[in-house]
Amino acid sequence: MKRRTFIHSLCALPLGSMVTDLKILRQWIDETPATTRQPVLFIGHGSPMNAIETNPYTKALQAMGAGILEKNRPKAVLVVSAHWLTRGTFVQVAEKPEIIYDFGGFPDELYKVQYPVVGSPDFANETAGLLPEAKPTADWGLDHGAWAVLKHLFPKADIPCFQLSIDWGKPMHHHFELAGMLDRLRDRGVLIIGSGNIVHNLGASIPMLGSGDKSAFDWAIEFDGWVGGALQNGDYRKLINYESAGRSGTLSVPSPDHYIPMLYSLGLAGKAESVHSFYESVEYGGISMRSFIIQ
Ligand code: ZN
Repeated sequence: MKRRTFIHSLCALPLGSMVTDLKILRQWIDETPATTRQPVLFIGHGSPMNAIETNPYTKALQAMGAGILEKNRPKAVLVVSAHWLTRGTFVQVAEKPEIIYDFGGFPDELYKVQYPVVGSPDFANETAGLLPEAKPTADWGLDHGAWAVLKHLFPKADIPCFQLSIDWGKPMHHHFELAGMLDRLRDRGVLIIGSGNIVHNLGASIPMLGSGDKSAFDWAIEFDGWVGGALQNGDYRKLINYESAGRSGTLSVPSPDHYIPMLYSLGLAGKAESVHSFYESVEYGGISMRSFIIQ
């Protein structure tokens, strides 16, 4: 199947299974006390096409963003995206980060998306100072793991945004522990977002797309549920070793690039906080769009 055909198939498919729990948003807005401390998000970003589509997933992001603005407007947003993998750790300090169209074979409309947000050099330099060996850089802009979700969360593009890279040479526990060093940013008004996908196996999804079978793979549902159970139980450290889930884990995470951003979100969870999944779906065979808030 040619890439363009494959992408068009992706767009045509309905969701495999989906739960949108917007009650969680309302509950969070109504019941949590007013504080300057920001929550933490993990967003499953899926296909870049979500940036220009309107569907239950994008509506859930819009509702979440509106809820955060209503509750406690962030001073800045820090995104840890699956699409910025580096040797070493870098923090993007650009004053005006440019949109990066880091994908190929999509409709022209997607390459015209703008997200004219400013950067946050002050918070970015503060972030670099909190992490051992982290280096500031202005060479990176905003990749689609950031702008494709921010476009729905904060459509006015009026909250400064910067990114932290993922050191591709480090073991899983490193990312979880590094995230904990960023805790004070939450009290300073920085909303931290991990952007990836808990299940991300595009390669395995292609034959299923070709046959027109619209259901999700059993192993994808199983692993997404395994992660969901650990999130509910507060057993976050268990998720550092996704291979302990067995076959469903290795099939769902053939490469950890999209899984690691979740470890950053979980590493920021305080002892008294809990995880609330506000969007759950396994779609296109092997993509989990599960997204959650930590508060
Ligand atoms: Zn991605």
